[in-house]
Amino acid sequence: MRKRHPRLWGLLWSAFVLTLLAVAFSAAFFLTRYLFRLIHLTLPPLATQLVNSFLGLFLVALVLWSFSRFFRQQQRNAFQPIIQALERIAKGDFSIRLENEPEDGILSNLVASVNKMARELDEMEAMRQEFISNVSHEIQSPLTSIRGFAQALRDERLGPSERQHYVDIIEMESRRLSRLTEDLLKLAALESEQAQFEPKPYRLDKQLRSILLTCEPQWRDKALAVEAALDEVSITADEDLLSQVWMNLVNNGIKFTPPGGALRVELRRRGAEVECRVADTGIGISPEDQVHIFERFYKADKSRTWSQGGSGLGLSIAKKIVALHRGEIEVESQAGQGATFTVRLPAN
Ligand code: ADP
Repeated sequence: MRKRHPRLWGLLWSAFVLTLLAVAFSAAFFLTRYLFRLIHLTLPPLATQLVNSFLGLFLVALVLWSFSRFFRQQQRNAFQPIIQALERIAKGDFSIRLENEPEDGILSNLVASVNKMARELDEMEAMRQEFISNVSHEIQSPLTSIRGFAQALRDERLGPSERQHYVDIIEMESRRLSRLTEDLLKLAALESEQAQFEPKPYRLDKQLRSILLTCEPQWRDKALAVEAALDEVSITADEDLLSQVWMNLVNNGIKFTPPGGALRVELRRRGAEVECRVADTGIGISPEDQVHIFERFYKADKSRTWSQGGSGLGLSIAKKIVALHRGEIEVESQAGQGATFTVRLPAN
């Protein structure tokens, strides 16, 4: 009301002050007359006037003081639930929500802000819990496998080839564990905003070609037809960080494409942007999974991916690195019909 109709508010306030003055001075007049009559006292008119005036002013002051006390108490009552809510939040209870938001004013903003803070802390806490349970799960699976094969190795009847096979599995699982911790450290560094980010100009096409060469043993193993259509493009970016993005996309392309399939890497300059596409003819990603694949630990097919050795962190790391370069990453795919990942980055 005060904000919406300031004029009306001013008028009401003036009327209140005038009425208060009139009532206080009339009360003072009648009170002194009654008292003087009671004690049979007659004062000169000026003295009576002065006494009336002082008493009137005293009554006005008394009424204003009482009002201010009343309003202060009201305010204290209004802030009490907010203070209690903040105390509970400080103790780690983020489930609290304040109700009865007043219609407008500072108090309503404050209540809305406290609710928003509690909601966001609640979400963060849920994410933290989920993260811990995901990490524990990812660590637990290879550990179980290592323990199982280590126990099996104790069996003296085991032949040399079986023994070798078990040792290979233990080695593979421990590699997987160390990859997982490396990825977790990378993710933590990227999220802490203290990520080492050192952009320098370099030839992106050369980097992509060398990534394809590094991965040659894997794609040769699967007899994939690899094709590269790379424009000569220079870019200012962090070479090491971007190399992790291409490594992840190319490795996924190889990993999720059955033997005999194809992998194509394309690099084009489009106006103010550089566009890199990594396309495969593999198992593809359903629309429901596409929404989640950039989330931490998400694997479209948990059982299969586990045997493929992934932890579901690669794409979330890639997305963070691309965002750090003010670029974007997206996927186009249909289950069973291959996947195409596109990364767009600002050109030099
Ligand atoms: P992972 O280490 O499991 O590969 P990523 O974060 O790189 O983790 O990928 C997350 C999930 O996205 C994968 O488990 C897989 O289900 C899906 N995915 C990623 N790339 C492809 C691809 N090229 N083809 C099919 N599925 C893919």
